[in-house]
Amino acid sequence: MRMPKIKETTNIHCKYWSVAELMPREELQKLQFDRLVEQVGYLWEKSGFYRQKWQKAGFLPKRLKTMEDIRQIPILKKEEIRISQETEPPYGMMRVPGSGSISRIAMTSGTTGEPVLIPFTKEDYFGVFCEGGVRGLWAAGVRKEDVVHAAFGFLPFVGLHGVYDACEHFIGSLVVPGGAWDSMLRLRMIKKFKVTVLMGTPTYLLHLAAVAAENGIDPASLGIRLVLTTGECGSASVSNTGVRLEKAWGCKVFDFSGTQETNYISWTCEEGTAHLNEDLLYFEVLDPETNEAVPPGEPGKLVVTDLMQKTHPVIRFETGDIVAGIDSETKCACGRTLSRLKGYTGRVGDIIKVKGVCVSVTGIENVLRGLDCCSDNYEYMALRDGEKDKIVVRLEPNKDADPGCWESIRRQVAEELRGAFMINMDVEIVAPGTLPVFDLKAKRFRDLRKS
Ligand SMILES: [Zn+2]
Repeated sequence: MRMPKIKETTNIHCKYWSVAELMPREELQKLQFDRLVEQVGYLWEKSGFYRQKWQKAGFLPKRLKTMEDIRQIPILKKEEIRISQETEPPYGMMRVPGSGSISRIAMTSGTTGEPVLIPFTKEDYFGVFCEGGVRGLWAAGVRKEDVVHAAFGFLPFVGLHGVYDACEHFIGSLVVPGGAWDSMLRLRMIKKFKVTVLMGTPTYLLHLAAVAAENGIDPASLGIRLVLTTGECGSASVSNTGVRLEKAWGCKVFDFSGTQETNYISWTCEEGTAHLNEDLLYFEVLDPETNEAVPPGEPGKLVVTDLMQKTHPVIRFETGDIVAGIDSETKCACGRTLSRLKGYTGRVGDIIKVKGVCVSVTGIENVLRGLDCCSDNYEYMALRDGEKDKIVVRLEPNKDADPGCWESIRRQVAEELRGAFMINMDVEIVAPGTLPVFDLKAKRFRDLRKS
């Protein structure tokens, strides 16, 4: 377990944080299996929650002979964690008794019900969770000399706290907070502190760049050398979001993904590959309908097992995310052996089936972010039109677009979407300033088919 200790190197050519990043695949798979056996044995002994759940499903730890046997363990759903916490507040039965005192909590956003709490001991937080994030920071090139600004509100959003603490306690760089700052104050502070690394959601960092430009500040002139995104689908899933951010801030963009319940799932290397934290977590991609494993590299729902945390580990947790697949075969030029995540395509239920075509929300986002005439403010809805489903896309054009051109922008966007998905979508142009601006996770998609 690596507890807080600043890495005493300023050698930026020392590009790997952890030996796990370079482990031969066979060795890594053995490590994953050994860790799974240990974790399952530990939980069988200590956790009434898991023992009851597994006994009910007829699973016994001794049945784990190969990694494939993990499929005998029943899936864990977010709802189960929530119910457990309602029954035994605040942490629920999933918190392993006797696993140490809680020194930190995270919480889900609560958009789908009462927020789920994620408790951490110091060992789990610094020794495992921050370890999952710091290697991504290191891969991006964050070093002791950097000044980092985390452009987030001070929410119980662990994705922010983990990288914040990793910068301060492991890398040793200065982190400038700024929870409640408005965008102009933030820009002034970025300048004053000579911030070199900027963190935030893609949505907010594009908004911040737009505010800068509106106030006569070229964001690329501020000296930011790295933009790090998390909290929503970034460059690893929506490549044109990465292109926009790079253009706006004039620097390289790196992306982290994860869920509140797990750890950092992936982070991008200098090649733009999203590498999975496979020594800390075990990943499965399953068919959303049958729960069977899909062939390697194929899309499906992401299920994650925490191999390391001891207080509130998730075992076969259904993240609710649909991914484009996991590629363990193609070697990355960066030298890391950790598999690559081929990106997220949306949440389960966010895939809209229209006329037999599956449309992902990130697919729509990629088209819109690839068009210069579109601003960063847009939303899309799935609606029932008689017997058929349809997709409506509403967007604000760029502020400098003449209203006389809006109709041609509308036609262009509709044409691009038709070209990408081979179906017609209703495109509506709305005046700049009409749609909401988000500062953490943007909620752009609404499924109104059932309402
Ligand atoms: Zn790589």
